Amino acid sequence: MLKYFLWIFFVVGAVQHSMAQFSKIFESKSLRLDYYHCGNADSETFYFGQLKQEPFWGGSKSHLVDTNGYGSYQMEVRSAENNVLLYSHGFSTLFSEWQSSPEAKSTGRCFPESVVMPFPRQKVMVSISSRNKKGEFEKKFEYLIDPTSKFINKERENLEVFDLVHSGDPADKVDIVLLSEGYTENQQELFKTDCQKFAASFFTYAPYSQNKDKFNIRGVWAPSKQAGADIPGDSIWTQTRLKSSYYTFDSERYLMVTDYQGVCDVAGNAPYDYIYILANTEKYGGGAIYNFYGISAAHHKNETGKIFLHEFGHLFAGLGDEYVGGTDLSDLYFPTVEPWEPNLTTLFAFEKKWKNMLPEGTPIPTPVSPENSKKLGVYEGGGYVSKGVYRPWINCMMNNMHTIDVFCPVCSKAIQDMIDFNCK
Ligand SMILES: [Zn+2]
Repeated sequence: MLKYFLWIFFVVGAVQHSMAQFSKIFESKSLRLDYYHCGNADSETFYFGQLKQEPFWGGSKSHLVDTNGYGSYQMEVRSAENNVLLYSHGFSTLFSEWQSSPEAKSTGRCFPESVVMPFPRQKVMVSISSRNKKGEFEKKFEYLIDPTSKFINKERENLEVFDLVHSGDPADKVDIVLLSEGYTENQQELFKTDCQKFAASFFTYAPYSQNKDKFNIRGVWAPSKQAGADIPGDSIWTQTRLKSSYYTFDSERYLMVTDYQGVCDVAGNAPYDYIYILANTEKYGGGAIYNFYGISAAHHKNETGKIFLHEFGHLFAGLGDEYVGGTDLSDLYFPTVEPWEPNLTTLFAFEKKWKNMLPEGTPIPTPVSPENSKKLGVYEGGGYVSKGVYRPWINCMMNNMHTIDVFCPVCSKAIQDMIDFNCK
């Protein structure tokens, strides 16, 4: 018993110590660095935009270095005085997907992006590193931040925020913020109902269903001039707050937003870790990018809840798509590079993936057959290609969600690990 009390004392003491460390180094609000991510299929450059102060910090105060190793980019914040790493965060972007699209082979393009960090008390050096074709990070951008600079933008648009699920302090919980897109001034009640539907369907699926007490969910109301989203293939153009559009990279169901800074302007009204946009449309579609944002149609006739869960898997746990086809993106996975997504492998470094979860004697690759329908294996086909990329289950919510409503054991573990990481 004494041992138990000593252990509790140690843990509480350690958390208090790290919280005290946090408040020595950071203030409890956010600093956003806006930049423009420009390039073509073979090159990329980052151009500084502005610094912006946001009122909340929704992330952990005790767990500031990202040890997951996911994402195509890594942001680091180091002390300008002694180069000590103070904060890091892995993420991916719409720009990096675009680099694999046919358009990037013929033209250059710029995407507005942002990185958010706790507000530093002293000068810090912020850097962004990008994964090269070998899967290694290379530093591409550096910017020295003086937190006392008079140029840090403090403009604020106060938008209405409401609680949907409240479990506790944002520092110890996973904080999801839901943003309205394509809802007109008189559709606020519809948005609130859609937010409630998101929260209800979210906690229907494991492993989220066993972890409800680890999540906060809030909504931010930002009305649009017109209802819906752009559908270029049908000549439908609507004036909406976040300028969402189907046919992103000429893929009909890829509903996305290009201006991430505009997304952050709305999200910054609440403490958040993860941004999910509800689009007021019925047309099947959506998309999500790891530690960037997720979006989907809030009114698809029968699968809205499953789309939320599939997309949130990308945003939250860095899960890759386990299906074949469906996109024009090429060159995403190489045989001599292990993908960073936890549920895909090229078998290049499979020991870092689910090898230790496989039942003894599992053949690699595992044959796709009816008796293997719920057996963990290594099935060829995934990450949009039929050859050279392997998935853990024949079908999973990250594959064909129309015919299944559970995540495979590898995806479930990745989600649970990320919940635990956020709540440490
Ligand atoms: Zn899976």
